[in-house]
Amino acid sequence: MGGRLAFLPNGKYLEEQCFFGHAPRHQGNFVQGRSQAQAVPETSPGLSLAGPVFAQTRADILMMFQLCLSSPNCLETTTIGPRSMSDNLANMGYSVIFSYRSCPMSLGFHPAISHLSATEVGELVVAYNAGTSLDFLVQHFRINVVKNRLIKVLPPTRLDQNCVWCSASMVRDLPPRTRSISYRSRIRCSACSHVESEACVCHRCVTELRKQAADAKLLALVKIGNATTAEQIKCASTNFALNEISLYQAMALLALFRCVSVDDMGITTALAASPIPYAPTSSMEEEMLDFLRASALVAVSEKSPSGAIWVDGDSVLFDSQKVYWFINKNSIRKLIQEIEIAGFTGNWPDHWIPNVEIIWRDLGLFECRQFYDYCAAERNLRVQSYSAVNHMLEDMLRDFSVGQICRFIWYGAKDAADFLVRKKVDRVHASNYMVGACLRSAERSRTSTREQVPFTRNCYLPRSMVSHVLFDVILKIGEAGFYEPANMKIVMDRRYCDT
Ligand SMILES: [Zn+2]
Ligand SMILES: [Zn+2]
Repeated sequence: MGGRLAFLPNGKYLEEQCFFGHAPRHQGNFVQGRSQAQAVPETSPGLSLAGPVFAQTRADILMMFQLCLSSPNCLETTTIGPRSMSDNLANMGYSVIFSYRSCPMSLGFHPAISHLSATEVGELVVAYNAGTSLDFLVQHFRINVVKNRLIKVLPPTRLDQNCVWCSASMVRDLPPRTRSISYRSRIRCSACSHVESEACVCHRCVTELRKQAADAKLLALVKIGNATTAEQIKCASTNFALNEISLYQAMALLALFRCVSVDDMGITTALAASPIPYAPTSSMEEEMLDFLRASALVAVSEKSPSGAIWVDGDSVLFDSQKVYWFINKNSIRKLIQEIEIAGFTGNWPDHWIPNVEIIWRDLGLFECRQFYDYCAAERNLRVQSYSAVNHMLEDMLRDFSVGQICRFIWYGAKDAADFLVRKKVDRVHASNYMVGACLRSAERSRTSTREQVPFTRNCYLPRSMVSHVLFDVILKIGEAGFYEPANMKIVMDRRYCDT
């Protein structure tokens, strides 16, 4: 066995692979100039040498050494002669000798079959694959192993593919006789420990995976940096006056500032640290914060804690509860003061007034949704269609307060749980039944002469900061926003009383 490596005058080298195809990883073009090859005889069975190779310059020599260091396992280091590196290389040829090493396969077959020629080994493998008796094979080929161990000494099948890491041939071990005919041994590299599998844990695969993870992390950081910086630049250059923002923006902005604290750089703390929830539901929270970001009133800060922002494909996503927010500190502080003064004095911008009932109902819808989810979850029912629930709640909010609707929802959930037990239906059916039960409860109320007493707030669903800001700070009607149906008259009466 063994191989031969020889340099050609054109600077490329010719290789002969060893029996198992072990080959240098780098092919060609590493020696430029007048390199020459000269064949030398094999020095010992199973180990071949190539060269001497004549290089013209020190750079050529160094490149050859470089090759030796980065070559696959089966390429041996080099001896150099006849002169030392300190000699003048300008006119003297240098011989560099390569040889195969450390690949056990290249040095010969397993010791138990080393007395066989390559042809005999081939015959042995063919006979083994054909199902010839193991006793016969051991005796006929004079192999000194127990017959059940014969599989261990047979060479693997060389495949027509190379290792992605060291370019050596990939091989497949012969299947044991005890396995079914469909059994396929794993494909592995004949030189390194690489296995053809995504779960390969060879050094190169592990290193490559780590490198890919590091690259992906770096790329993610760049994407996050680009996204947050663009948003912050826009935010830093935007100034708003009270007349330029809507009631919805004023409510969302003031609520945010009552939930977080702001440092000198204009970076806030995370909403998760606030003892009072920002909005009744996470969907409303995201909706409001997205609106503030789109208006450039706030931006996601690049100084957010790790894990709060991440990359998913081409999108940069963030957790609105965990990120820090960036604001144009001086401009926004002034705006916040103006909103608070407007709420205190009642001198709102005129364009806020038509939106009061709309925003009141909008907040009521999310508060009702929060209570609906709570009642359904308490009875182990899962909402099947939020569009049906939203439609029902929007309809109720035209006539009833949030507190009254909470009563309908509670009775609807109770009826649905009762229906589940009495009729022995599944939970999907009962969940759908709950929507109808709420509606029936509301319809009974509409036809009844008795006034429906609203529920008080559930102690497990604390009032959100948005509710505090809208009803206490801006509209100044307090919990009437929960106990009364949305009606501008209530707001105007209160403003009239105050003035
Ligand atoms: Zn390999
Ligand atoms: Zn591997």
